[in-house]
Amino acid sequence: MTAAMYCARGGKQTLVLGNIYGSQQSMGGLYENYPGFPDGIQGIELSERMLAQAQKYGAENQTEQVEKIVHLGDFFRLKTENWQYEARAVILAMGAGHRLMGVPGEMELTGRGVSYCVHCDGALFRNKAVAVVGYGNGAARAVIYLANICAKVHLLTAREALVAEAVYLERIKGLSNYVPTFGAEITKIQGDQFVTGIEFNARNSPRSLKVDGVFVEMGMKPNKELAESLGLETTPGGFVKVNRLNQETSMPGVFAAGDLTGGRLQVATAVGTGASAGISALQYLG
Ligand SMILES: Cc1cc2nc3c(=O)[nH]c(=O)nc-3n(C[C@H](O)[C@H](O)[C@H](O)COP(=O)(O)OP(=O)(O)OC[C@H]3O[C@@H](n4cnc5c(N)ncnc54)[C@H](O)[C@@H]3O)c2cc1C
Repeated sequence: MTAAMYCARGGKQTLVLGNIYGSQQSMGGLYENYPGFPDGIQGIELSERMLAQAQKYGAENQTEQVEKIVHLGDFFRLKTENWQYEARAVILAMGAGHRLMGVPGEMELTGRGVSYCVHCDGALFRNKAVAVVGYGNGAARAVIYLANICAKVHLLTAREALVAEAVYLERIKGLSNYVPTFGAEITKIQGDQFVTGIEFNARNSPRSLKVDGVFVEMGMKPNKELAESLGLETTPGGFVKVNRLNQETSMPGVFAAGDLTGGRLQVATAVGTGASAGISALQYLG
């Protein structure tokens, strides 16, 4: 949306394809570290404001998923389920999705106790016991959020410590209903209709916990299918490879920004790379 705002404001006919409510940004809850909002801003409000700003300068939004992009000489054809569009330049910003645990019960019980979004589903587990599986800032934020709602919050992490920003670790220290288990490898989610527990190996011994919810915070993987089918180069980590000076990809006329290109995976960096990609697209179009 930042890239679209720059392109529209730069006088180009600009189309945003995709649904802003399906973004990580909209699902992120309260953002306390996006500059300009000392009291924080809710992700959905930020998304709506960004789209409104792009639209103010003439950008249009169609809430369609792009299924394929084809390179046809000096333009690109973008196919959605019902329609197709042509563009002389394309800026890819499909973001990233959640990494899965990949254990039995995960897929079957997703939406029935297994969740990837504390801000969406946390309130369903009021006064219940839940497990957060993961590490890093995502897991730390999930623990802090859930500890205000749930009776008990277990952290199960394969690592030997929770590695997160100091501000989060400090808040976690003060929680009385937080129980961490380090060196835990998840093996199964228990439950028939709904989650009833979680099984794991800790220091090579099989263990289990009775929980009503499992929140997965295992990091992100880029939504790179469109980029791959276009034949763009990727990094060893699987992100779309860009020139960090201008967000150019390996294909002239295609730029990329945000989580799709790896790095810090933050709103502020997505906005920064989006601005750079937008300016580069304007220069490319002349
Ligand atoms: C729970 C949570 C908490 C977070 N906390 C913070 C925080 O405190 N601070 C911070 O800076 N960041 C935080 N983040 C990360 C931040 O939200 C992301 O880094 C940021 O949203 C990345 O922006 P993006 O535009 O690259 O991707 P997204 O925001 O994910 O947007 C990608 C968009 O592309 C669309 N899309 C994907 N595929 C297609 C397709 N084929 N066709 C059309 N559209 C498509 C999606 O629907 C979506 O609208 C958090 C994220 C989550 C989930």
